[in-house]
Amino acid sequence: MKKYILSIDQGTTSTRAILISQKGEKLFQAQRPLDCLYPNPGWVEQDANQIWISVVDVINELLIVSGVKWDEISSIGITNQRETTIVWDKKTGQPIHNAIVWQSKQTQKICDRFESKKNLIAKKTGLRLNPYFSASKIRFILDKVKGAQKRAEEGELLFGTVDTWIIYKMTKGASHATDPSNASRTMLFNIFDMKWDEELLSLWKIPSKMLPKVVDNTDDFGEASFFGKDVHIRGVVGDQQSALFGQCCFREGESKNTYGTGCFMLMNIGSKPVLSKSGLLTTVAWRIKGKTTYALEGSVFIGGAVIQWLRDQTRWIEDSYDSEIYAAKKPDTAGVYFVPSFVGMGTPYWDDDARGAIFGLTRGADRHNITRAALYSIAYQSKDVIDTMIKEAKMPLPVLKVDGGASANKMLMQFQSDILQCEVRLPRCVETTALGAGYLAGLGSGFWKNIDDIESCHATSQVFWTKMDPKEAKKLCKGWDKAVEATRVYKIKD
Ligand code: ADP
Repeated sequence: MKKYILSIDQGTTSTRAILISQKGEKLFQAQRPLDCLYPNPGWVEQDANQIWISVVDVINELLIVSGVKWDEISSIGITNQRETTIVWDKKTGQPIHNAIVWQSKQTQKICDRFESKKNLIAKKTGLRLNPYFSASKIRFILDKVKGAQKRAEEGELLFGTVDTWIIYKMTKGASHATDPSNASRTMLFNIFDMKWDEELLSLWKIPSKMLPKVVDNTDDFGEASFFGKDVHIRGVVGDQQSALFGQCCFREGESKNTYGTGCFMLMNIGSKPVLSKSGLLTTVAWRIKGKTTYALEGSVFIGGAVIQWLRDQTRWIEDSYDSEIYAAKKPDTAGVYFVPSFVGMGTPYWDDDARGAIFGLTRGADRHNITRAALYSIAYQSKDVIDTMIKEAKMPLPVLKVDGGASANKMLMQFQSDILQCEVRLPRCVETTALGAGYLAGLGSGFWKNIDDIESCHATSQVFWTKMDPKEAKKLCKGWDKAVEATRVYKIKD
């Protein structure tokens, strides 16, 4: 009997595996930490073999700990850190270079060479020209490893994001494939015709022979024969899109925000891509049975990290959890605004040279007020991104679904609902990233019949209803806007 879905969540700091029941519940999990390598300042790399070994380890541990047998698994889902780039030898299956991690800035100079093409790139891919995405990372590897360009042209080398690498290894080299959500982060994929783009490939001088086949998110990605027989990979999706699916944001306008170190917001915008004028990314959410769903994506650089800053730099709190307890000692911020633009400002301001500031201090303002202001800053910044999405997608926000470490903070979630004037919903299982790939795999293998089936087993643990008067919310947000403007006056480069 096929009783479980096995979902792999391959992230930057760890690899996790979970078993999901027919009721959509997480039953068991296993996790392995991963190392990052920093060969030069700003460079971030990983050992692709270590990534693969961590996948083998978590699957083995999960089966041993749970006592579940391989033939009880209906299918496998994979979700992964996006954009991270691996190039390997087709014959030996060995990487020719470390994996270059999404965060790495080592290809900034390569990107600078394409500055005059940034509009063309944005129009085809929905992305901003940036070292994050895979194209410049592939170029870097082909330039750096001797003879690699020629070997790639002759079809001896293969490229993959981490999903593709894991699929290749799990199927013992039988399948070299990816899904459209991962492909759309390479900067080589045309999100309008949903194909690798010939013009972009020739621009970056990347041979098409290296590229994986792009198939729908719930297609058959191959048999995981490394582990045993008859279990197929039936759900593959990049991590943020996976969380969107795992939060059941299946309809237009439905959005999720992940409150981690930074915040990642995605809005389902349906079947027509909208290109942003304010720096949001347009990305493929998923393609199921030939039908593509797009998403707008935006992020906040310093989300939960502002609480880490309070913990480590001011030492007013001992751990992140305490922030809620201390902030609750005062009923409000006493007019204080905290703008944590420690590394510049993202959507919709795009101001690299801005730095953080605290405004409105009075003699009575204390650390409790400032802690509250720091928490509120996470909600204000998220609102700035969400407002941009609402404006550009021309869609209202009926509800915001939330996850990530800082979504455990009830004061923050209530304030988010108050200033957005919309319902905020926390799911029962906060492992939405792993759930998303699991749901897709279950759809692919017929474990669940359709999305209604999935929705019926997706439970909410808490709903935050708006309690604040709209006028009061508007007034507070106006104060935030003023604080942001004031912050931007001071530039580190002045
Ligand atoms: P990531 O996946 O980015 O590492 P997590 O989802 O694990 O992040 O969330 C960790 C972040 O959330 C940290 O920045 C931490 O300061 C913040 N955080 C965790 N718990 C709370 C809390 N109860 N209140 C506020 N912030 C929190």
